[in-house]
Amino acid sequence: MTDVADAERRVLARILRQSLESLGRAGIDRIPVASLPVVARNAPRAAQVPSRPSPVAPPSKPAEVSITLPTPSPARRPDVSPLPRDDRPAMPPPVAASLFAEPELEAVVPLAERAPQLALLAAEVSRCTRCAELAATRTQTVFGEGSVSARLMFVGEAPGADEDATGRPFVGRSGALLTDMIGKGMGLAREDVYIANILKSRPPGNRAPEPEEVAHCIGYLERQIAIIRPRFLCLLGKTAASVLLETALPLGKLRGKWYRYRGIPAIVTYHPSALLRNPAWKKEAWEDLQILMQAMGIRPPDRKRPG
Ligand code: URA
Repeated sequence: MTDVADAERRVLARILRQSLESLGRAGIDRIPVASLPVVARNAPRAAQVPSRPSPVAPPSKPAEVSITLPTPSPARRPDVSPLPRDDRPAMPPPVAASLFAEPELEAVVPLAERAPQLALLAAEVSRCTRCAELAATRTQTVFGEGSVSARLMFVGEAPGADEDATGRPFVGRSGALLTDMIGKGMGLAREDVYIANILKSRPPGNRAPEPEEVAHCIGYLERQIAIIRPRFLCLLGKTAASVLLETALPLGKLRGKWYRYRGIPAIVTYHPSALLRNPAWKKEAWEDLQILMQAMGIRPPDRKRPG
């Protein structure tokens, strides 16, 4: 077997293993064989990866929304208790759809098909050479990981050195802080959310992604979001916010408010790396997480905010 085929096989095996574990946690212990050819038939092809305009647009203001919160589904974890009904935030009407509104994502992908679809997409990503420099300098692609039934997806910027070395998102110092934000702060398990990035390959020296790289890669994230269809998005930092909300406004103006990305309520907060550089911002990040938690109907665990 060639090195490329072997690497691809390892990526597929890892994604499948993670996805099957996540299906197991969701109570699914079998996948009908009949669904597999359908998966292959429906699998999006590389040529269909939509490209997007450059994120470096004039600083237009993305539409802020007040979100209508669905009644939270019962918490699966004992430490994630729904708020008492009366404490739930008021629910204004959802943003009206119009002829000119951005179309919602396609129909929800059945749970059993998500893992195989993500595995196919991950394999496609692992072969991607659209960004010649990134393809030549990366150790491996970093597709993303987490639960295929995640209610919440975090979106970061791009893999760093640790992520490039391991093939997993947010495993370095900023990853440890994100894990604390999820676990100690929100009382969720990291495995129960989904974590992905705008770019799937590490930019050399951790430089910021180039607009052309974002345009090449964003279709993969769009497809991840379409497959998992989380109920909430948490956009970590300026790159994730500016790309998905198509704005150049500074993070300080975007954070702590609700937007919609293709119909999905999205909140913006500081990137964990920015919090490591500026610990004073943790207070605001914690406020953002609390807004998110209230919307998700979860209470923080019995401790103060993450350090
Ligand atoms: N920073 C990111 O934006 N993503 C990672 O996966 C790691 C660090």
